Amino acid sequence: MKIVLLGPPGAGKGTLAKDVAAMFTIPHISTGDMLRTAVKKGGATAEEADRLMRQGQLLPDDLILRIVKERLSQPDCAAGYILDGVPRTVAQAQGLEAIGATVEKAVLLLVPDQIVILRMTARRVCAQCGTGYNLISMPPKKEDVCDMCGGPVISRADDAPQTIADRLKIYHHETAPLADFYKGRGVLLPIVADSTPQKALAALLRALEKQSTPSTGIH
Ligand code: ADP
Repeated sequence: MKIVLLGPPGAGKGTLAKDVAAMFTIPHISTGDMLRTAVKKGGATAEEADRLMRQGQLLPDDLILRIVKERLSQPDCAAGYILDGVPRTVAQAQGLEAIGATVEKAVLLLVPDQIVILRMTARRVCAQCGTGYNLISMPPKKEDVCDMCGGPVISRADDAPQTIADRLKIYHHETAPLADFYKGRGVLLPIVADSTPQKALAALLRALEKQSTPSTGIH
């Protein structure tokens, strides 16, 4: 199965992608995670990438397409993948088509802005191993300490309140038009994702099931 996950920052794409990847045994490809790893390693463009990401700005389409193309060419992607965080612009969606990266389902997570803001304000991450937490729905067992590795649990730089507002603005302007793009391709699957990760996963599985029912004749 070849899936892209669309939705505002804080919609729960990463959490859902991990579950779907495990269920369907396909790789979870997160541009955010790949970029954060690349920034940690350092190198030519790391400083500029870090600056843009801290501000919640998008990185250039050609850079994103280059790293995604590289990742998709690896053998584990042959049978399918779940893309999380890409495409984020119509140009990136067109770029994926140009490199032959098929999208069979474009899953759009529907979450109102107010909920996204609350979630991102409560979002935390382990600075050491990257495990994600949320102070409201999924807090670490011990305050500020990672359950997995004992590392410090912190706020992501781009989850500062003003940056959250900027990222939402960019989302509505640059990324939301992708819903129409994929609707036009006949692959859009909107699902309600405004409560728990478990409910979002159940909604996604129901939607996939419904679409693959032969009696509808619509795919
Ligand atoms: P979010 O939680 O906002 O969905 P991600 O972890 O997916 O964030 O990405 C973090 C940052 O990495 C983005 O704010 C952006 O700066 C950069 N980034 C990730 N994917 C892309 C992309 N496809 N195009 C441009 N920039 C990207």
